[in-house]
Amino acid sequence: MSEQTSGTVFNIQHYSVHDGPGIRTLIFLKGCPLRCLWCSNPESQARMPQLAYNVTKCVGCGRCVAACPQKALELHEDGIHIDRKLCLPSCRICSDTCPGKALTHYGKSMSVKEVLDKVEADELFYARSGGGLTLSGGEPLMQSEFTLAILEAAEHRAIHTAMESCGQADEETILAICAKLDYLLFDIKHLDSDAHRRATGVGNERILRNLEAVRSAYPRLPIHLRTPIIPGINDDESLIRRILSLAQSLDAVNYEILPYHRMGEQKYHYLGRQYLYEGPEQVNPEKLASLQSLVVSVYPNALATQKG
Ligand code: SF4
Ligand code: SF4
Repeated sequence: MSEQTSGTVFNIQHYSVHDGPGIRTLIFLKGCPLRCLWCSNPESQARMPQLAYNVTKCVGCGRCVAACPQKALELHEDGIHIDRKLCLPSCRICSDTCPGKALTHYGKSMSVKEVLDKVEADELFYARSGGGLTLSGGEPLMQSEFTLAILEAAEHRAIHTAMESCGQADEETILAICAKLDYLLFDIKHLDSDAHRRATGVGNERILRNLEAVRSAYPRLPIHLRTPIIPGINDDESLIRRILSLAQSLDAVNYEILPYHRMGEQKYHYLGRQYLYEGPEQVNPEKLASLQSLVVSVYPNALATQKG
């Protein structure tokens, strides 16, 4: 695989201190096999670039309608209507035409070289902090060739690598990728498969099998487990105790809980989608504090990080 291999990236975030050791550059890849009700990055779910529309920035000039070769756009009193079935994922004509950036695109094609060149600009911070790059998403295993090519190039450039994963992939794929990885952040959303399916759209059998397979194939790979705490879904002490036991049995280097937030809600509207999670706005603070002290009693370095 070469540095010319390309994939779809929807964000590169610099100077993160929550996603692996030290100061890190996060590379967000598009595509996810889960559909978590509370997902704060709905723009990460589809594999290809997507058109987003923010009506509050639209001045109603109609330039996008005139420019669209697919006739996918119409100007109405309440703003632009998009026929997403007609819109072409590789086209960016309307967002390039829009004067107020009311139309934008989530995701663009980038080569491994383009990604790594951006990552290397932060090299000074890595050297001082023991950081590196972290692949995130979406689910990096959905773009496995691109992910593997980034990891190989990072190894060549002596950059420390981490990956955030939900673990839903072929065993062969996750094992091939973990062979090139320095640090694995792995999400455990629920241990009961039916509850996992209701919350994410898929059962957890393959995820848990893959986690065991990774541990047994790579006993020295640091595995860091995390659970997003969602009110009414998994904010349950007995469940967190069971996940802590799993973390210990796998010799995980860390386990963290990440409190639910609604910061991604607006992006659903930009994509013409509905936000589906209807539970409380936040985890009950007392419950969160009690779960947090339980986690810290086993993993003293665990922080209740607010994730984007
Ligand atoms: S991205 Fe292209 S095809 Fe899609 S709405 Fe915009 S101009 Fe039309
Ligand atoms: S080009 Fe932009 S500002 Fe003009 S109508 Fe289209 S979305 Fe609105």
